Amino acid sequence: MEKILSPILKALEEGDTLSLKRLLEEAHPQDLLLIWDDLNREHRYVLLTLLPKEKAAEVFSNLPPEDQAEYLKTLPPWRVQELLEELSLDDLADALQAVEEEDPALARKLKEALDPETRAEVEELTQYEEDEAGGLMTPEYVAVRASMAVEDVLRFLRRAAPDAETIYYLYVVDEEGRLMGVLSLRDLIVADPRTKVAEIMNPKVVYVRTDTDQEEVARLMADYDFTVLPVVDEEGRLVGIVTVDDVLDVLEEEATEDIHKLAAVDVPDLVYSQ
Ligand code: ATP
Ligand code: MG
Repeated sequence: MEKILSPILKALEEGDTLSLKRLLEEAHPQDLLLIWDDLNREHRYVLLTLLPKEKAAEVFSNLPPEDQAEYLKTLPPWRVQELLEELSLDDLADALQAVEEEDPALARKLKEALDPETRAEVEELTQYEEDEAGGLMTPEYVAVRASMAVEDVLRFLRRAAPDAETIYYLYVVDEEGRLMGVLSLRDLIVADPRTKVAEIMNPKVVYVRTDTDQEEVARLMADYDFTVLPVVDEEGRLVGIVTVDDVLDVLEEEATEDIHKLAAVDVPDLVYSQ
């Protein structure tokens, strides 16, 4: 267990909010997720409330949908607002879909609390099938034009970076928004600043469509060793990116399903008999 976890558990037990807050500044969300299942309900609430908002969002985005819905119902309104702001659009769309299933009125209310641009993007994302690329993607990618000079792209990146899911890959689109090429941040940095994007981009882009099955997305990523894949619509226009973190979740889900199918036994019975 990570060194930081025992003091966190101790502070939770003792209700020592001050120490807890200090410890949570240092904690990594993934470490908290490791012990999440062993925490009692009250301690989970305390953590989700006291964590710095970015970390709270990170933990939250890894919780099962039913739990997400429950937390959005019951956490303090200021924290809910912060979560809505911090979550990346794909995670936000998933969480709101979970709420929608249990409490449509609350889902509507939460959507109304979003700024209009975010709301429109979330509405857009929730139209796609959950098990297809469209349901995994986020529109927070960086797109540039082939005619741009490398120095202009770097300047543009400084502005675009804070809102992008990843800046390591940049996608090149034409005036119609159609995907024309891809380049990496490394490609950009090693290029002469006056070079045009057209000269350094890779025009043979590996991509998926919004309706590509999630297993196929995972397979392509594994085969080509890419951590990000661009997603296009029927007209070949870039509409999002799928990142490997979301695909790993898919593989985990499918592996669990397969194991259950393979086992074809009543699991609880097996565990608790005698
Ligand atoms: P290398 O791994 O060769 O040292 P690198 O570390 O600079 O290169 P990577 O992230 O490995 O960069 O990407 C290598 C190349 O893959 C980049 O030049 C980029 O243009 C290309 N690339 C990234 N995504 C795609 C994609 N979806 N389709 C085709 N090519 C891609
Ligand atoms: Mg590389």
